[in-house]
Formats: sequence, structure tokens, C-alpha cells
Amino acid sequence: MTITDAQKRVEREGGTLSTLREDGSRKWLRPRVSPGRFLSRRRAFAWLLIIIFTAIPYIRINGKPSILLDITRREFTFFGKTFLPTDTLLLALFIVSVFVSIFLMTALLGRVWCGWACPQTVYMEFLYRPLERLFTGAPGRKKNRLQSSSWGPILKFISYVIVSLFLAHTFLAYFVGIDRLVTWIGRSPLDHPTSFLVIVIVTALILFDFGFFREQLCIVACPYGRFQSVMLDRNSLIISYDPNRGEPRGRMRRARKTAPTPVDLTVSAPPKEPEPGDCIDCKMCVVTCPTGIDIRDGLQLECIGCAQCIDACDAVMDKIDRPRGLIRYSTQEAIDGKKTHLIRPRVVLYPLLLTVAVTAFIVVLVGKKPIDMTILREQGLPYVATGDGSMITNNIKIKLVNRLPHRQSFRITILGDSGATFVGSPDNAVTLEADPRVPVTLGVAISTPRGAFAPGGGQLTITLHVEGEGVSKEQSYRLLGPRGAANPG
Ligand code: SF4
Ligand code: SF4
Repeated sequence: MTITDAQKRVEREGGTLSTLREDGSRKWLRPRVSPGRFLSRRRAFAWLLIIIFTAIPYIRINGKPSILLDITRREFTFFGKTFLPTDTLLLALFIVSVFVSIFLMTALLGRVWCGWACPQTVYMEFLYRPLERLFTGAPGRKKNRLQSSSWGPILKFISYVIVSLFLAHTFLAYFVGIDRLVTWIGRSPLDHPTSFLVIVIVTALILFDFGFFREQLCIVACPYGRFQSVMLDRNSLIISYDPNRGEPRGRMRRARKTAPTPVDLTVSAPPKEPEPGDCIDCKMCVVTCPTGIDIRDGLQLECIGCAQCIDACDAVMDKIDRPRGLIRYSTQEAIDGKKTHLIRPRVVLYPLLLTVAVTAFIVVLVGKKPIDMTILREQGLPYVATGDGSMITNNIKIKLVNRLPHRQSFRITILGDSGATFVGSPDNAVTLEADPRVPVTLGVAISTPRGAFAPGGGQLTITLHVEGEGVSKEQSYRLLGPRGAANPG
């Protein structure tokens, strides 16, 4: 069954979203935990991700945060490299690479991201839900005294607030940096009301998401879930129920194994019932589903690929002594008894695009100099001629950005034998701090013999050279001059 099949079923049966009752009210889900091989692996992987996510803001590379998305200063640092708004090409290539990687991953592995690595799933299933079960009891289990008392929900709420506060601080550390965050924490909220308000709002949003909105984020709000149907094909890995093996389902499977013997031989035997399938309709795969769907209805948008239904059904199969895998990782083609094709157009095209985008990103990144030089013309007259007209002066601005992790002195010179020289300052020495957000702009005048300009052209291209310790950069610039005769009388 495809997503469209599942939607048709919902329309035919007058059904609603898995988390809505027919009267439109919310059906609160308390999925039952199904221990098994996939849950153990997901739990270990989730905690590894939580540790990494928490540690990243503290890790410094080249003296810079490993990841810092400083939106207010429009500066993005990844693994010791800082990108500025002027790095639009790099940013565009990075975004293209991320999107193509997502397309490729989904085409091959379906919603493996949602079930295994998405922060929404990781924190919901391995932090918030365990806390909920700890303080208010687990579905299908007897409650202890604390869980039955009114203290249970109160303690659950307090633990949610503490975890949300911690998560809000971790999340903000990616945007403001750990140093600034520590400064905020150490001061009174009255000293920094705006940042305090930001922390309160982020904490409230996290609390709302994990305490109230929960699976609705995956079902109705996440764009990735919406795009799933176009990114998957019949050869993509999905979690699927095998109807060929499971149907016809029924609770009386074992009893039906023995056909009744007709007593009256003059009466013909009842029509033979079809051989029962392996599904005993116990619904363990449904009660364990965090989005409340029945995987036996086929591939559905709500399925986040968490594999809890696999663990639940495997345990049932073990109990009734049937082989595991009635629900399993498979492809739609394989479930229909056809061959799964690993190589197909989109699986070839996406890696090609990804290779191009990543190669271009690396080339641009490696070619990037640790110093940026931008040359701008000063406002006003394009050039000024001396009294006798033999020398032409252009006034320009040179903006320098130091991307090196340390303070650095630079010299700017003019290359070539055009005769162009800086007026007043022969080498334009300048010192820049180790901070790309603090550029230095020099206003300089360049004097050039009139004869250097091409006759009739009025232009002369020179090369400016900026040099520091072990770094240098050259950039061309077009000086303007008078049109007409090369030299005045
Ligand atoms: S857990 Fe397995 S046997 Fe039970 S209803 Fe689901 S598919 Fe059928
Ligand atoms: S159907 Fe299975 S894999 Fe999909 S969300 Fe529900 S439990 Fe997880």
C-alpha cells in the first residue's frame, strides 16, 4: 500500500488523523515501550547525539567555537572557519549540499533521519517520555505510590522545566556563543532584560513542544514529512508490514488450524476458510506507535520510521513461535514480491550533484585568503589633475578584513611599473585585530602620471598587493583619468 492508498483508506472509512477523535478533540498518545534490538540501538545512538549536541558549543577549534551561528552579527563559524555575509557563494553551495544529501538519504533510507537522529524524536523519546513514565507511570504497567499520587504530575512538570531550561541554554549557545551565555547566566536578569527574555521564550517554546505539541510537530508541522512522498520511491527503505504473510489476520489463528469434522455426512462441509496469516491482530504494533498509526494500513505520512512496531511485532512472533520480520525494514517492491533496484536514476543523479556541490565548496573554501580586500571609489570627483595636468589623482577606500586567528600587520603596495604611487604614505601599513567583524577602512589617494593612461581610454588598471606575515593577496583596480591626448602640451 502506498501513501495514496492510505489516504484513500482514510477518506473511504471517514477517518481522521491518528491523533484526532472524530469530534475533533485531541487523542493524547501514551505509546507503550517495546524493548528490542532497534530500541537498544536507537537509545545508544540518541544519547551519543545528545552528548555531542551538548558538547559542541564548548569545543573550540583554532580558538573559535566549533559552531557559532551569530545571526545578529551575520557571521557563521563552522569548525574553526568563519563565514561572513560576503561569502554568499560558499553559503549557497553549503545549503545545496545539505539539501541534496537529504534527498539522497531519503531516496535510499527513507525516513531514517526522523526515526533515529531528528532532535524532536531524540529528545521526545529518550528524555521527555522516560521522565513522563518515571513520574506518572508507563502504559500497561502498574503504577507505584509516587506515580499514583498527585505529586507525580507535579514532579513531571518540574523535571520538564529543568530539562527545557537546560536545552534552551544549549540551543542558545549555538547562536550567542558559550562565553556570552555564561556572562548572561552570571548576571542579574535586570542587567540584560532582552537576553533574559530570549531565554524565557526559548524555554517556553521547548516546553510547549515536548510537553504539549509533541508528535503533532512531525504529523502536521514538519515540512520534511510533507515532502516525503516525493522523495521516496518504491525502492526506498521503509518500515513495512508484510500483508502476504500477515493476512488474513485474526486472533483465533491457532484454533482455526484444525478444521471441524462434519457430523452429518449428508450435509456438505462448510467452505474451507483461508489459511490464517501470522498477524494475530494483537495491536501491539499500534499501541507502541508514537504517532498512533497502524502500520498494517501501509506507508503513511505519519510514520517517522522509529522501528518501535518492528520490536513490538518481533516480540509477538517470538511468543507465538513464528519467524520475526512480519513488520520489517523493506521496500515496497520487495513487499510486493518484486526485485529491489538499488541503482536507479535519482540514486545516480543525487550523488553526482552532491559531488559537484561539495567539490565547488572545497575549491572556493581552499582558495579563500585569510585576508579580504575590497576597493571602493570615494564619492565626489572621479579624479583630480594637478595644476599642470601631468599627474592624476584617484581617491579610493580600501577595506581590509583579517580572518586570521591572531592580530596581524599588513602593508599595501602597488605592483607594476605604471608609475602609480600612494600619495603621502608609501606603504600604507595597517594593523588588524583577530576579528573579522572589525574591518579597517583606509582612505588613500593614488597619484599616476597622465601618460600612463591609455590614449583616448581614460582608464588604467593597476594591481594592489596586501601582505602580512605569510599571507598576501592581490587585487586589480581600474583608475580613472582624462580622455584625449596622453600628455598635455
Ligand atoms: S504486532 Fe504483529 S501480530 Fe500484532 S497486530 Fe501488529 S502486525 Fe499483527
Ligand atoms: S508505524 Fe512503526 S515505524 Fe512508523 S512511527 Fe509507528 S511505530 Fe514508528
